[in-house]
Amino acid sequence: MLFKEFAELCSRLEKISGRLETIDILAEAISSLSEDDLPVFCRLILGKPFPEWSPKKIGTGPNLLYEAVAFVTGRKKEEILDRLGRVGDAGAAVEELLSQKSQTAFFTTDLMLSDLMTALEELASTGGGRSQKEKARIIQRILSDASPLEGHYITAILLEDFRIGVGEGNLREAIAQAFSVDPALVEYAGQVRNDMGEVATLAKQGDDVLRSVRLVPFHPVRMMLARQGTISAVLEGEEHIVVEFKYDGARFQFHKEGTVCRMYSRRLEEVTKALPDVVHLLDQAIAGDVIVDGEVIAVKDGHPLPFQTVLRRFRRKHGVTKAAESIEMVPRLFDILYCNGEMLIDTPFHNRRDILTGVAKEFVTEQLVSGDETEIENYYHAALDAGHEGVMLKRRDSRYTPGVRGKDWVKIKPEADTLDLVVVGAEWGEGKRAHVFGSFLLAARDNDRLVPISRVATGFSDEQLGWLHSILKDDIIRSSGKMVWFEPKIVFEVGYSEIQKSPNYEGGYALRFPRFIEVREDKDIREGNTAEDVGERYTLTHRPVPS
Ligand code: AMP
Repeated sequence: MLFKEFAELCSRLEKISGRLETIDILAEAISSLSEDDLPVFCRLILGKPFPEWSPKKIGTGPNLLYEAVAFVTGRKKEEILDRLGRVGDAGAAVEELLSQKSQTAFFTTDLMLSDLMTALEELASTGGGRSQKEKARIIQRILSDASPLEGHYITAILLEDFRIGVGEGNLREAIAQAFSVDPALVEYAGQVRNDMGEVATLAKQGDDVLRSVRLVPFHPVRMMLARQGTISAVLEGEEHIVVEFKYDGARFQFHKEGTVCRMYSRRLEEVTKALPDVVHLLDQAIAGDVIVDGEVIAVKDGHPLPFQTVLRRFRRKHGVTKAAESIEMVPRLFDILYCNGEMLIDTPFHNRRDILTGVAKEFVTEQLVSGDETEIENYYHAALDAGHEGVMLKRRDSRYTPGVRGKDWVKIKPEADTLDLVVVGAEWGEGKRAHVFGSFLLAARDNDRLVPISRVATGFSDEQLGWLHSILKDDIIRSSGKMVWFEPKIVFEVGYSEIQKSPNYEGGYALRFPRFIEVREDKDIREGNTAEDVGERYTLTHRPVPS
């Protein structure tokens, strides 16, 4: 496929909002792709060149890209930034700039989809001392071969700011339609393989191939997630349910095969090197080849330490040994997805649990199996008294559904008015905070869009503002006056006193008295709260009072 055709398709898709039309257009394109282009297309149309389980990252910030745009268009970087400020969208700004480049400067070689992919692979594998120069050279090369429209989408891919309105759901439907396979099987294969590119290739071979997908060690899958709910609602229709403590730590997935062990964070980043103590404990405790799911907590004198303490260890690259000595980390295992060559995600939970206790001689979570509401409530209070976050209720016969926030796992914790929102912009501070960002613009998810709903300026220490500035300063994609916009990457948990309707934000709601609580480093931007969640919470608290 020519990259030009891909860019034209993106531009067409961006202009339509109907789900069925999107699926039809995608299905038509997918059915005509070559074997090599099919997986590349299915990943890039979601704006992700590499499978989610893969450690590969493009690893170029906006700065490098803007320098390359300056080089290719023969302009100064300041001019590029200025244009970005005026146009707003980085892709559109680069398109405009490239269209003003003299036509004779264009190369005549056509850029193929595979050429772009090769360049992205090169970017991902370029590391070490001279890496920035090398990366700049690669970006310049692809941009000088690119037409303005191609430049638009290359920019969006490089900045990981690709929003053309195609979500994973639409893509799954389109793959099913293109190859006349069962959409439920496409979804299943997606959960197991965690890569829509590979899934498309399998779908082309039919339902049976999709059905036979398997988990393998060192190819992490998304974690199963929990919904909020009530004990009585979960008990409805169930004789017994499983109750476990909800540990306030960080989620992990641990893979072991033979003597090799690897640990992954909730965002599926490998954290083996950051947590050698935990990896060692699990290696010792587990006999066999496994993929297990759990939470790691930090403990002092038998009591759990705050969640931030655990996350600091996940981030650590230097001084790991010293950190491991000063904070005791304890894993808690609550599920098993794979054991000695057998995939277990379709096995009922109570059987998985038996298998887990069979292979792990330590660290398996305690459970209460009960159908009695009062007994479960007492267990919940005991969990809180022991310093845990609450309890998790799980259906005994449920499957393990990677990435799904379904009704099989329900979290019960004290009511907290907090939302997890994506940081999309900031405003420079004033006075002694003039060199850092003083307030942040936060957005809720609406399908694959991010709609701003709040600004937060309180709850930060000077130290936190300094740290936030250091991690966000390279993610600025445009600025205007004192305001800057970021490539969305991090999630803030914010508290508030009330949700109000507001014309000031695109989402139609605003938070009253928002305050920063913490950076949810364990959460990907896909896991932030949605605009729908915000609307639901508004409705819940603004129900008409019965007369
Ligand atoms: P939340 O982050 O509030 O959506 O709650 C779900 C998270 O609770 C999971 O992703 C785990 O990190 C954590 N968790 C703690 N204890 C358990 C448990 N026993 N079972 C499942 N998840 C748990």
